[in-house]
Amino acid sequence: ASASGNPLLRHLNPEQLAAVTLPARHALILAGAGSGKTRVLTTRIAWLVQTGQVSPAGVMAVTFTNKAAKEMLTRLGTMLPIPVRGMWIGTFHGLCNRFLRAHWKLAGLPQSFQILDAQDQVSAVRRVIKAMNLDEERYVPKQVAWFIAGSKEEGLRPRDVSVRDEQTRKLVEIYQAYEDQCQREGVVDFAELLLRTYELMRDNAALREHYQHRFRHILVDEFQDTNRLQYAWLKLFAGPGNSVFAVGDDDQSIYAFRGAQVGNMSDFEREFHVEHVIKLERNYRSYGNILDAANELISHNRRRLGKNLRTEAGPGEPVRVYEATSDFAEAQWVLEEAQQLHREGTPRSEIAILYRSNAQSRVLESTLFNAGIPYRVYGGLRFFERAEIKHALAYLRLLENPNDDTSYLRVVNFPTRGIGARTLEQLQDAARTSGRSLYQSVGAVAGKGGANLAAFNALVDAMREATRGLTLREIIEHVLEASGLQDYYRNEKEGRERLENLDELVNAAEAFVTQEGFGKDAVALPIDEQAGAIADGDPPAVALADIVPDAETGEIISPLAAFLTHAALEAGDNQAQAGQDAIQLMTVHAAKGLEFDCVFITGLEEGLFPHENALSDFDGLEEERRLMYVAITRARKRLYLSHSQTRMLHGQTRYNIRSRFFDELPEHALKWITPKVQGFGGGRGAQSGWGSAPATPPWSAAPAKIEPRVATSDGVALRVGQSVFHNKFGEGMIVTLEGSGNDARAQINFGRHGLKWLALSVAKLTPIE
Ligand code: ATP
Ligand code: MG
Repeated sequence: ASASGNPLLRHLNPEQLAAVTLPARHALILAGAGSGKTRVLTTRIAWLVQTGQVSPAGVMAVTFTNKAAKEMLTRLGTMLPIPVRGMWIGTFHGLCNRFLRAHWKLAGLPQSFQILDAQDQVSAVRRVIKAMNLDEERYVPKQVAWFIAGSKEEGLRPRDVSVRDEQTRKLVEIYQAYEDQCQREGVVDFAELLLRTYELMRDNAALREHYQHRFRHILVDEFQDTNRLQYAWLKLFAGPGNSVFAVGDDDQSIYAFRGAQVGNMSDFEREFHVEHVIKLERNYRSYGNILDAANELISHNRRRLGKNLRTEAGPGEPVRVYEATSDFAEAQWVLEEAQQLHREGTPRSEIAILYRSNAQSRVLESTLFNAGIPYRVYGGLRFFERAEIKHALAYLRLLENPNDDTSYLRVVNFPTRGIGARTLEQLQDAARTSGRSLYQSVGAVAGKGGANLAAFNALVDAMREATRGLTLREIIEHVLEASGLQDYYRNEKEGRERLENLDELVNAAEAFVTQEGFGKDAVALPIDEQAGAIADGDPPAVALADIVPDAETGEIISPLAAFLTHAALEAGDNQAQAGQDAIQLMTVHAAKGLEFDCVFITGLEEGLFPHENALSDFDGLEEERRLMYVAITRARKRLYLSHSQTRMLHGQTRYNIRSRFFDELPEHALKWITPKVQGFGGGRGAQSGWGSAPATPPWSAAPAKIEPRVATSDGVALRVGQSVFHNKFGEGMIVTLEGSGNDARAQINFGRHGLKWLALSVAKLTPIE
């Protein structure tokens, strides 16, 4: 294909063009943020299809978030004159779900298997721990859930985990019991989607050959964040003669805490005998000041493969830095700036507010909400995670699969039906002994409780009967009414917002139906050459993203089942009406791969960003810095950084000093809206923050040098007689204070732990009022 003549290739620089048109071998594109990696990957798909090198059904592309997958499909839709919705483009989880829907029988799953989200998983683990009569204090459900997910991500089933001590032995027992429970209930968690797919591909040669033959081109975005299991999964799909095209950026590796391995990049080069490694160095996304900030920051990391980015755009606006007195003031400032940007013509959807931890979104959300500004939150406390929505979804899930015990327990007595804890215990015992589901065990409970349970079962059956053949919207409306949920919230004092959310669920379903094309003609894509390659047939590609007919029967799962899957997989984007122009709120992790005209990075405080959990080790700090690099490089035109002197988090007021990252940014690119207060000395330890001398007025040329009498590493000013909290020693009172700056020491009486001397540049102390 001649490059110059092809409109697809017209807007590529020479390196990008070389990457897009590489021969069908394995390739690695290693390049910094905004250099066009995703654009190259998308264009390559379009080019391969357009030039007839592969049919749309022969491409598999993996992205990192649902939002990114959608954007890729949209872009492809504009490049190719064919329907693209049926293409295998999605997240690892989305693709696995699709695979397992098609091969549920081979995978040993019920046809209508449901997906547990992170919260469901923790409550499922909690039930197992209870059933095993173990102490929840010792076996914390959330931690056990992490252990299980971690094991699965290493590809380890319970029998594969090496048991070194008693604690691990118990954890493995819980893991096993949890697996049995999931299997019984017909549910899978996120990690299971991957592991199940991996095992099926590994153990079933016919299936493996089929898919290896089918997907001639496998393309992976954000390759630096694949974990061991995902990498092994890719190796199974990549058969002989296929091409794996991986793009990534080692500086944006931010999932090490979930087992992602940058090492996969060098493994890939070696194991796949990668012939082509292409680097892209020109950034097309951001103005110079933003890029300078990103480059300078990341240069503080030592473990890098090393590359730099340049731009031909001008410097643009300086990066604005704001210091707020409180988190509320910070949110207010963000709001005002965002409004200003909007007035000047920036669409709200081009304004992103980023934060390091989910908990930070609450204040931002309520500020936007009170001002009546539409916003949308990605990740975090999502629409589909709200209690009333989960109740409604539980009823809907029971229609699909009454043996889903998680859903059963959630609503069996909600709204109340006189089913008490004793009755439920009896029911759970009966289910456990017989190895059956709760729904199936109702007969084993005698008396009034048993009768109430039977009535609940009858209600579920009646709803299923009554909704047969209805549209998704009608099904949901019926269930909201018949279950008593709507009445319940109508009578509840604070129920209005919840009722609105339930209405919103109906809207979400409606939007889903239109988007996914249910009820419209599903357009079949051309199927490629491998038809009939394996016994149970190839799932014909249909124009329904992530929804595939059963491989054996050809039956397309019901819109309800599809919607429930969507609800579990998707971070609900429903705070704002679909299509409404809304400000985008998300964690930095969720922002990966995305770009916005204007970006606010909030909460830039020591302990928050970089996160306190990461401060103690070198790798942790480097990962935080990569995270900050990701955050900065999301911005096209304007970047705003803010921190606050005080912040309410987890019910406590914290006094914070600004993040060390400010000191790692080039001064020429910054503009301090509030005056920058000079740190003391070179050491971390000693920046001023709350409790320092009055801030210098903005017009003062030289920032004031401030020497507080004694400050902690967090810049908190301390006095004798003050009560403080220490992570390890608990509550104590300051007896003596000595020295200053990096040498400041305090003698503190910690009661039970006795008198201790602590170096304030190291110790973490929080004052207690
Ligand atoms: P990240 O590392 O953040 O995922 P990336 O390397 O994937 O970034 P893209 O998102 O593909 O980068 O591209 C960044 C921006 O630059 C996009 O808006 C893209 O359309 C634009 N862009 C990329 N290449 C070119 C080009 N050759 N000409 C004009 N614009 C380009
Ligand atoms: Mg990208």
